[in-house]
Amino acid sequence: MADYSKIVGEIRQAFRTGKTKTYQWRREQLLQLYKLLEESSKEIEDALYKDLHKHRIEAIVFEIALVKNDLANAIDNLSEWMKPEKPPKNLLVAMDTLMIQPEPFGVSLVIGAWNYPIQLTLLPLIGAIAAGNCCVIKPSELAHNIAILLEKLINKYMDNESIRVVNGGVQETTALLKERFDQIFYTGNNVVAKIVMEAAAKHLTPVVLELGGKSPVYVDKGVDMLTVAKRLMWGKTCNSGQTCIAPDYVMCTAEVQNELIEKIRIVIDQFYDGNTATSECYGRIINDRHFQRVKSMLKSGDIVIGGNINEEERYISPTVIKDVKPIDTVMQSEVFGPVLPIMPVMNEDQAIDYINDGEKPLAMYIFSNNNKIVDKFLQQTSSGGVTVNDTVIHAGVMTLPFGGVGHSGTGSYHGKYSFDAFSHKRSVLKRSLAMDFINAVRYPPYTDRKLGV
Ligand code: NAD
Repeated sequence: MADYSKIVGEIRQAFRTGKTKTYQWRREQLLQLYKLLEESSKEIEDALYKDLHKHRIEAIVFEIALVKNDLANAIDNLSEWMKPEKPPKNLLVAMDTLMIQPEPFGVSLVIGAWNYPIQLTLLPLIGAIAAGNCCVIKPSELAHNIAILLEKLINKYMDNESIRVVNGGVQETTALLKERFDQIFYTGNNVVAKIVMEAAAKHLTPVVLELGGKSPVYVDKGVDMLTVAKRLMWGKTCNSGQTCIAPDYVMCTAEVQNELIEKIRIVIDQFYDGNTATSECYGRIINDRHFQRVKSMLKSGDIVIGGNINEEERYISPTVIKDVKPIDTVMQSEVFGPVLPIMPVMNEDQAIDYINDGEKPLAMYIFSNNNKIVDKFLQQTSSGGVTVNDTVIHAGVMTLPFGGVGHSGTGSYHGKYSFDAFSHKRSVLKRSLAMDFINAVRYPPYTDRKLGV
């Protein structure tokens, strides 16, 4: 195991030089990261294919291009973001200068997850650099090929005095978490999030936690069911369902359920040319542990579509389970795979009650033409984000903060929100030493006269 105290110590020294606070360093590192993605696109696509059987288009859209867009935005707006804000003043401070100065925390630790291993390590890195931090990146060991490649590329393109990749699994991460960081940005499941939070608590280190959960879908009656099925199954089957904001389960009436299942059947055939097992467009489950976990969910309810597996390849076909009940296994934890349970409800009120009985989800999807029903969900439930009449899309919009709430996470990022996530907002008041007579009233002795009594 590497000497983490030494690595963090060296990086802290680099932070103390002040170089990462300069506009030049931040801009240059963001440009280098852009160059890394431009020049290594093919290598990244190949590694994503090896790790997740991720199709080239998914690799470009959800990983490489998405990070490049965020980078381009950060490069364009960096000088604006770095400027101190000038808050409004009241009479007491009319002669003073007030400002909110964004300053880096110092040395950040970014712990990434395996499902979008480029996006989930490099998007936080953009925020860390833009805000002027040094950064240690711990990619997920489960996306092994990407983890190795990231180490190689970061070594080649970035300033290694200030930005370093540390690879390893649970043992290494446990050791790394003993070090003192100034901020920890963790993406992954909420069991490990508690371990991260506990380690952070020892040093009172602030954390951003990007977690998961069961993201519900409500499908109303009277909607264009073929379009709903397409948008729903796109969100469910991309990356073979291993997406933190994938629609986890559907609630609708029994009549809507029948109609939806028929359309989902058509859509899956269209997406994968009638054969998901041989389609280049369809992914695989990351490892055996996750394969067994998702496979165990196939025991719930009545499988009406799919349910086919190939253990050797870690293949699970897009699967729909109907008439699911709250007590079924598939409803006990996040599916994080291509299995879609449908749970019939009487109406939207019952769906809302069910959502509110559980932990706050990372995402929520409502398919309806009825604004009153949409508003009811928006007013009466809570979640990290919402897309109405589609799935996943809100996470790709840079002007919307991305993050969870409660069990689905703490803090948010993407676009300018990443800069904010990695910045401390320091309040500054500057005043002159002149005209101190104005302050006479505040100094003792306190007399009634001073209160105007
Ligand atoms: P994972 O297994 O890759 O773990 C995430 C990170 O935690 C890895 O870097 C890993 O090395 C580290 N880790 C694992 N066990 C540890 C331990 N005992 N101590 C210290 N560190 C440890 O990823 P995962 O947790 O399987 O990811 C899936 C979960 O993450 C799902 O719940 C998903 O919804 C969520 N997720 C959330 C987002 C988001 O942006 N909100 C994105 C992706 C995934």
